[in-house]
Amino acid sequence: MSLYDVPIDSLRGIGKSRAKLFQKLNINSVYDLLRYYPRTYEDWSKVSYISELQNGETAVIKAHVTSNVTTPYTRNGKIISKVQISDDTGSLMLTFFNNKYISSMLKYGEEYYFFGKVSRDIYGFSMTSPEFSNTKTADSLVPVYPLTSGLTNRMVVKTVKTALSMLPKEIQEPIPKDIIDRYNLCSLRFALNNIHFPKDAESLEKARRRLVFEELLVLNLGMRMLKSRVSQSTPVKMPVDYSKEFISKLPFELTNSQKNAVVDCINDMKNKKSPMNRLIQGDVGSGKTAVAATVCYNCVKNGYQAAFMAPTEVLCEQHYKTFLKMFEGMGITVDLLTGSLTPSKKKKAREKLLSGETDIIIGTHALLTESTEFLNLGCAITDEQHRFGVNQRSKLAQKGEMPHILVLSATPIPRTLGLIIYGDLDITSITELPKGRKKIKTFVINSKKRNDALGFIKEEVKKGNQAYIVCPLVSEGELELESAENYAAELMLGPFSDCPVGILHGKMKPKEKENTMRLFSKKELSVLVSTTVIEVGVDVPSATVIMIENAERFGLSQLHQLRGRVGRSDEQSYCILVSDNGGEKTEKRLATMKNTTNGFVIADEDLRQRGPGDFFGSRQHGLPKLNIADFSDMQSLRESQSAANEIISNNPDLSGKELSSLRAEIKLLFSSVSNSTMN
Ligand code: ADP
Ligand code: MG
Repeated sequence: MSLYDVPIDSLRGIGKSRAKLFQKLNINSVYDLLRYYPRTYEDWSKVSYISELQNGETAVIKAHVTSNVTTPYTRNGKIISKVQISDDTGSLMLTFFNNKYISSMLKYGEEYYFFGKVSRDIYGFSMTSPEFSNTKTADSLVPVYPLTSGLTNRMVVKTVKTALSMLPKEIQEPIPKDIIDRYNLCSLRFALNNIHFPKDAESLEKARRRLVFEELLVLNLGMRMLKSRVSQSTPVKMPVDYSKEFISKLPFELTNSQKNAVVDCINDMKNKKSPMNRLIQGDVGSGKTAVAATVCYNCVKNGYQAAFMAPTEVLCEQHYKTFLKMFEGMGITVDLLTGSLTPSKKKKAREKLLSGETDIIIGTHALLTESTEFLNLGCAITDEQHRFGVNQRSKLAQKGEMPHILVLSATPIPRTLGLIIYGDLDITSITELPKGRKKIKTFVINSKKRNDALGFIKEEVKKGNQAYIVCPLVSEGELELESAENYAAELMLGPFSDCPVGILHGKMKPKEKENTMRLFSKKELSVLVSTTVIEVGVDVPSATVIMIENAERFGLSQLHQLRGRVGRSDEQSYCILVSDNGGEKTEKRLATMKNTTNGFVIADEDLRQRGPGDFFGSRQHGLPKLNIADFSDMQSLRESQSAANEIISNNPDLSGKELSSLRAEIKLLFSSVSNSTMN
């Protein structure tokens, strides 16, 4: 029997009720437990003297118990125990809450190691609920696990120990032997032992490196399996290229980049062997929508329906309007399906979709619900893809028989990361902006100049233009940063007292955000004060200024995305970066913004300056949840990628017995792909 199938409650000391607690942590089997890695480690090796303690530090003390345990009082039925400990340099009071066994565990006169956070009050130093141990194991790194209420770290430690002791001598390696050798990885056995109970810091590092490598390898291979599964299936047939006739009716000439993207898509759609599975990445404003529309046209003319999914209602409404205009008089029906339509309108939209009356449907997640059915979906397009998870994309595709898939993204991603994140997609890049765009003028100022900047914004607003003002945080607690609310209030009472100012922040409900955004795009608001929630690709052409407070707080790619909210017409647009943090690094970063408007250059620079960990910010990228690896480890990323290449080139289907546990790991990781949600 494999460890995947051994339930957690078959372990010694784990009954049904404790098993339930483990299940809360998603630990069902012994295998899950072994893969439940510590959050951090307590270093018990460095023992401090009581006289050296600092208020607030976490420390290990070796001391004798020099009083009996007293239970001076109970409060609300809670037991509070106190006991004094001393070493040669001083004494300290310990307090424990709700542990009636303390008096039997800590014996007067005996010596123990104590681990905990030190605090100081008028009576001297104290520790609250420290960990303690009287054994020599106190000399090592002790694992600290993420817990759930009712489950203590001690219990998890004990259970993991039991589980490790049950491991057979030989455990099956998911990583092929030659890869283990070539990349100098430790065995799985060693890794599991040492990630939980490291012999020393070096062994922990070895264990961690191997487990990170393994996870990235599994991720890499899994993404490629997704791709090859799609490429092995027969697509819907779209033999004819209708793109030219559509393009000729557009009000502008496509850029060469847009034309190339169209050619890539058409070729994919003509292919009889596998459906299109393509990502178009292009800077904000590069005209991805027109390419998507051409693809929709081609799909409809070949006899199928097309779906275009975008992450917000405002964006959908915008695309809907654009499409209505572009498809006017062509005998092609475009419809809209979003969550906020009235139930009867939604019902109607769904009926028209199922009957085939609608050719192109534009919508939010509402397209994914079960009640949305197509007559014959031939092409599924998602906009701003990083907001959708891998499986939401495939959920839309499942609404048809192997439809073509197209994904649009405005986040240029460096190639190394792209291979993993979009490992399942072919990539086309749009590298130029439409002709006649004026370069957005970018200024970096300090807050002394803020009033001048506000005056300038006021001028723009007077001309009938609109402005975004971005401040990074809303929480009241952050004293240094203006909260969006106070900030907006000041503007409304001060410089903008005679124009409509709206506010947008992360604590608002999606509906409220949508409403505010809608008002702004209808020009009913002149100024929008906001946190970064405006990032998603809304197109408000008469917005010509964006001012970003605390600009040093943002990554370059994020600043670039924000800047892309303006400069969407032939009017001159402006970006004002406000920052008082005049450090050299900050200056250099903000100078990059001033000198470059190319998103790919900025993405590379961002990667170089901050590493890939930050690259995505907190944004969803729709990948399975990783256990131990993250994207900040470029070295492991590269190594695991080349290992994946070697494995695939020898064995493209990952078939055969020796790769069975690797296949099992892939299946397991991808079973965790959650419905990613928008933030
Ligand atoms: P994004 O790639 O950010 O989604 P959009 O598709 O919203 O960009 O296009 C931005 C604006 O540029 C739209 O108003 C669109 O009509 C316009 N546009 C797109 N392609 C061209 C072109 N080739 N020439 C002129 N304007 C264009
Ligand atoms: Mg767009």
